[in-house]
Amino acid sequence: MIDCCSQPGLMAFDDGKQRLLNAITPLIDLQSNSSNKPNQEAIPIEEALGRVLSASIYAQVNVPPMDNSAMDGYAFAQSSLDDSEELKLIGQSFAGHPFDGVVGRGQCVRIMTGAMMPQGTDTVVMQENVTLIDKDSDSSLKSIAFNHKTKYSDNVREKGSAVKSGDLVFSTGKKLAPQDLGLIASLGVSSVNVVRKVKVAVISTGDELQAAGTELAPGQIYESNSIAISSMLKKLGAHVKVYKNVADCKEAITEVINQAKQSFDMIITSGGVSVGDADYVKEVIESVGKIEFWKLAIKPGKPFTFGTIDNAYFIGLPGNPVSAIVTFYLLGAPAIEKLQGLPASEPTRLTAILDNDLRKKPGRMDFQRGVYRVDVKTNRIHVASVGNQGSGIVTSMSSANCFIVLDREQGNCSAGDEVIIEMFQSCLLG
Ligand code: AMP
Ligand code: MG
Repeated sequence: MIDCCSQPGLMAFDDGKQRLLNAITPLIDLQSNSSNKPNQEAIPIEEALGRVLSASIYAQVNVPPMDNSAMDGYAFAQSSLDDSEELKLIGQSFAGHPFDGVVGRGQCVRIMTGAMMPQGTDTVVMQENVTLIDKDSDSSLKSIAFNHKTKYSDNVREKGSAVKSGDLVFSTGKKLAPQDLGLIASLGVSSVNVVRKVKVAVISTGDELQAAGTELAPGQIYESNSIAISSMLKKLGAHVKVYKNVADCKEAITEVINQAKQSFDMIITSGGVSVGDADYVKEVIESVGKIEFWKLAIKPGKPFTFGTIDNAYFIGLPGNPVSAIVTFYLLGAPAIEKLQGLPASEPTRLTAILDNDLRKKPGRMDFQRGVYRVDVKTNRIHVASVGNQGSGIVTSMSSANCFIVLDREQGNCSAGDEVIIEMFQSCLLG
């Protein structure tokens, strides 16, 4: 039996995604070499987590800036050992407190991890591999005897061994992770040029919607899409303004959209794009902008809509909470990433063994919610359905950690079948 909500000729998910992404121009031309790009801003590295570089970063310094010790031990010149297996201890080099003399033949210096190699030394022996000979209480008469052989440059971290001055460290279009910020700081760089935040208006529509924290009148429900969608947007690094609970009326929707289109790169609505008598959003967009496509052969989220309103992109999410979250994740998030200048990335899909039967009618590509786990005995990935796949069952997204991706023409699946899963990426995680 074919899916009741599928229609012949419904646009395939991949085609819709491609059309949407093709229509989007990134905020910044990352190929341009100009240092004065529009939509670029310089920000301190403390604020740069998750932001996208709009200019490449070249190292102006060596990391490390000087030869230093990788161990706690003793620094000396390897050639000293040609004469004697014992070296006289003449001083110390601590991290941040270098030895400020020259180490001669037959001599060594106590050295700590990260401390600068003293002049005249080229090798470090670990303290565990020598015996300290304390001939007298007078410390000037201490020496070390070697228990192990060493090689030239043992345990020395060479200047520039991590990064050389002049190296290209990051190219434009790089989204900054915590470890990248650490690397940038290690270059002595305290601010970076990034693409400005994408500005997004999130508008929930529906006469039945009430804000959490208030009393419900008969027929009302608590509004939940705006916080879920705006939270995903924030995780993606966008700037968000929420317009809550716009009435199911053409004038009200037109007014808020006309206001939002002036200040935002993207307008995202939820609700009102289906075929009900109070679904006005699509009609409004047709009058104030242009619909690129309406409806995709996907489940959940068939009424997904994409268009433009003057210079703003428009995404119409279905109202059902699960449909809204799933379609924003699948189609809205890649659109935001393209606007930010990130290179296109394909979702990571893996094969998993299904632990239970699944119902699926041919006609629409299905993104069922599942929980994957790795079987420690077989090292294979298994996946189980979260149960009820209804698009209003908000618990299903919260208990899932992946989508079970079922092809458009696929029918029911049985336990033991191999299926494709897509693990939730960061914007769906806490
Ligand atoms: P619609 O797409 O407007 O027909 O809405 C479909 C279903 O989703 C209806 O049951 C709505 O009450 C519900 N819904 C719409 N918008 C929201 C929202 N922002 N928060 C929670 N539920 C919603
Ligand atoms: Mg509605």
